[in-house]
Amino acid sequence: MSKDEVVSPHVLIFPLPLQGPVNCMLKLAELFAINRLRVTFLNTIYIQNLLLKHTNVQSRFSNYPEFHFETIPDGLSEDHPRSSDKLLDLADGIEEVMKPLFIEMLTFGKMSSKSSTPVTCIIADGGYTFVVDVAKDVGIPILYFDTISPCALWTYFCLPRLIELGEVPFKEEEYDKRVTGVCGTENFLRCRDLPSFFRIRDLSDRIIQYNLQEIHEIPRSQGMILNTSEHIDGPIISQLSSHCPNIYSIGPLHALYKSILLSAQKTSEQANYSNSLWEDDNSCMTWLDAQPHKSVIYISIGSLAILTGDQLLELWCGIVYSGKRFLWALRPGSIADKDEKSKTVEELSDATKDRGCIVSWVFQEQVLAHPAIGLFFTHSGWNSTLEGLIEGVPMICWPYLLDQQVNSRFVQEVWKVGIDLKDRYDRVAIEKAVREIMEDKKDEFQKSCSRMAKLARQSVGDQDGSSHCNFSRLVEDIKMMRLLKPSS
Ligand code: UDP
Repeated sequence: MSKDEVVSPHVLIFPLPLQGPVNCMLKLAELFAINRLRVTFLNTIYIQNLLLKHTNVQSRFSNYPEFHFETIPDGLSEDHPRSSDKLLDLADGIEEVMKPLFIEMLTFGKMSSKSSTPVTCIIADGGYTFVVDVAKDVGIPILYFDTISPCALWTYFCLPRLIELGEVPFKEEEYDKRVTGVCGTENFLRCRDLPSFFRIRDLSDRIIQYNLQEIHEIPRSQGMILNTSEHIDGPIISQLSSHCPNIYSIGPLHALYKSILLSAQKTSEQANYSNSLWEDDNSCMTWLDAQPHKSVIYISIGSLAILTGDQLLELWCGIVYSGKRFLWALRPGSIADKDEKSKTVEELSDATKDRGCIVSWVFQEQVLAHPAIGLFFTHSGWNSTLEGLIEGVPMICWPYLLDQQVNSRFVQEVWKVGIDLKDRYDRVAIEKAVREIMEDKKDEFQKSCSRMAKLARQSVGDQDGSSHCNFSRLVEDIKMMRLLKPSS
């Protein structure tokens, strides 16, 4: 097909092979499908198999004849754990195996300009830094969707300045020092609140270099999609727009998704599907139904974080000593020391049977929306933060890696919807924070959580909401996109 021929819009969606990005991008894909765009969703084989096993994606997306799944290998063996301590293996697999296959797909395959249905727009996760070069080489417009938090992304963009100012790298004794190099956050951001890998002392470290590359490549795209809204992140969006002028902030995406599906005459059940890579244990919903209003602490550390045996014990004790009811999603593989885990979990779950429910994985959006939930003990992943924010549930933040260190600080200092327990892995601090949120300052937290929830909902609640408008603009822009002149 020649570049001058008018072709129908065809979006290729390419998420990082992790729970958060896959969940987000599936929602975006379905919203495009409802808007009658042709969509190809490119998953790794590993992720696609998990989705087929644990969700109804196959039947759900079969309702959209213009939607197709494609798969690509991630370069790792089937039994590789793909855990957060092995993310660099995944980066190697992507570079060595996935990247050449991706280039081939777009140059000669059924998505290339030579095919009958060429891709006219690529939407790739911001973590896929190589995609912008591929897109330019084959002449396809590209938008990056950065599924991490915009506040953390902003610190990424500030990294060169932080290095220039000598604020990164920093020593452990400087953790509490205020950072001046992240515009707009001077009053509250400390060294310890920067992304986890900014703690690395060696600037030639691969992850730092990878980060610098990411902020170099993203502005070369035609635009950037963010999972946030003006109401949540207005000042950060305006800082980011000095680097990427064309921003589509369409979040909280899970709430926009529900709102659009409901207005497309879907039932609330049809607007409430899980994209879990583990099997949801729905028995916890029956357990929650029997608990009093706002009485339960929901505990989850997301899909990547790993607890040490010691951390598990401190967390357990803090929660148990608080005397509150709890629902704990204890993901398989989330404890580093397996022996410690089985001993602790067995002993402690026996002791707390009357007020605790432990499962391996839940449909979190549904759990957070349950009236019995009064507190979210979270690792502060960006999706979890948005899910808690929109339900007006106060949070205790126990961040582990990547953007979580930044998110937890914003939860406490900017949105004022929780307490940041960063780097304080002890039972006394946990028990104290639980009591503060559920007893001593209950009304104060409820008030600020309801305020933020209301604002977040306004962005997605109706056609005039900012995220609704930005999503419509995104769809219109995609419809107008045409193949470009290849750069080589
Ligand atoms: N999640 C879930 N069930 C669980 C734990 C997590 O459905 O038991 C979902 C959660 O709703 C969120 C995603 O997994 O959408 C986790 O993404 P997040 O960005 O919060 O953290 P990550 O897992 O990437 O660290």
